[in-house]
Amino acid sequence: MPPDVVTPELFEDVRLELKSSLPENSYKTWIAPISFVGAELGKVTLMAPTAFVRDWVQRSYSTRIKQALATRAGGIIEIFILAESSAVAPTTPSAARGEVYPVTLATGEYTAPARPAGGARVEGGMSLVPHYTFENFIVGLHNQLAVAAGMSIANTGTRAYNPLFIHGRVGLGKTHLLQAICHGVLARNPDTRILYVSCEQFVNQFITAVERGSLEAFRSKYRQPDVLVVDDIHFLAGKDRTAEEFFHTFNALHTNNRQIILSSDSPPTEIPSLSERLVSRFKQGMTAELEPPLLETRVQLVLRKASQQGVELPPEIAQVIAETIQTNVRELEGAVTKVVATSILLAKPVTMELARQALSGLISDRPRRVTIDDIVAIVSERVGMRRADLQSKRRTKPLTEARQLCMHLARQLTRLSLEEIGAYFGGRDHSTVLYSIERVECRMAESPDYKKMLDNLLAMLASGSRG
Ligand code: ADP
Ligand code: MG
Repeated sequence: MPPDVVTPELFEDVRLELKSSLPENSYKTWIAPISFVGAELGKVTLMAPTAFVRDWVQRSYSTRIKQALATRAGGIIEIFILAESSAVAPTTPSAARGEVYPVTLATGEYTAPARPAGGARVEGGMSLVPHYTFENFIVGLHNQLAVAAGMSIANTGTRAYNPLFIHGRVGLGKTHLLQAICHGVLARNPDTRILYVSCEQFVNQFITAVERGSLEAFRSKYRQPDVLVVDDIHFLAGKDRTAEEFFHTFNALHTNNRQIILSSDSPPTEIPSLSERLVSRFKQGMTAELEPPLLETRVQLVLRKASQQGVELPPEIAQVIAETIQTNVRELEGAVTKVVATSILLAKPVTMELARQALSGLISDRPRRVTIDDIVAIVSERVGMRRADLQSKRRTKPLTEARQLCMHLARQLTRLSLEEIGAYFGGRDHSTVLYSIERVECRMAESPDYKKMLDNLLAMLASGSRG
């Protein structure tokens, strides 16, 4: 029996069903932007904002969509998903060739409409880095959500993610991604007024405006752009007056349906001393995290970075570099540069031996200064607990176990005494610390997985490669 006609309303029902069954961010990224185009004889055509989203939905959600449609329409349904913009990686041709970017997108200034190549730099501004494009941004499991949202904004001008709040630790690509979105927005429409600033500049400009009595001008400048991009918004922490001003800037732009894009080293709720109302504004659009890339992606990153430097690395060497530097893309780049430079300097091909030599230099160049704060930061993140809880006197089982792990690591990696370690973790005495260390050793002996996890943490901390 042929299915009933699929109507836009019926598709809305399917969308609602997915909304209630998917995590919020997944829904917002993949399903919300899909629109209904038409239906005919059991064939339903949908539209995705980009090829990237289309491919993803096709792979991960088309079966569910089909089933949900079929249940409602009473028959087998085929779906076709089109992509509104087939450009996966929008960049200007000149940016792709690494030439001077034709449009100066100056920090603190509006972009001028497209100018001839080599266009003027705007006074006191910092231009977009020409190669910080989507094309040069490697997508992996660790950043796909942020990239998908950013590409949708760049390719379609959607306001579905407003604000887009991207967070992640240092060196994981926040600035690159923000600038890629700017490049993409400009490639699509060179007349877009983008205001791209670091939060520090926003703060400084505000202070100057207050001192000079030129708030009026400051406000009008920040209320005009179509797209406001502020890098490192966590810099607002503890700056109550500027944060308040930013709150009004935000509202004025948001009310006028202008796009706001922010980056931060932590999620909105974890930026210290930020007012509740600002936190809730930051959370109101889409929040996406940039996580440390997985090994596979790191290998890709290494290969790409080397080839950008004119060297084709053998895969096993890329693997070694990627295994050595685990949590920070900027350091990964540094390691590649070091290997390539060593090869040029010694006029030798890149062999495994040369790579190890170059990398060991990289690691021992840096004094190993693991602090107990590093340990708690990395463990709290790993186990999804708050630092404050690890340092508190509370004693739930998971907390106690995580705390014991921290104590064990602290004993191995720092010069702190048992007493000092105990004091740090809520004023516990040295026998508690000793007992904790023993517990961890027992667990290691019992479970190879636990030991592997601990070895990983040790390696990460010892290589100092977490941001
Ligand atoms: P953050 O602003 O988060 O500290 P950056 O954007 O400055 O990080 O990134 C650090 C370096 O790593 C930059 O050179 C950037 O080009 C590179 N990088 C980070 N993530 C990626 C990625 N996914 N693909 C390619 N390069 C990346
Ligand atoms: Mg940055």
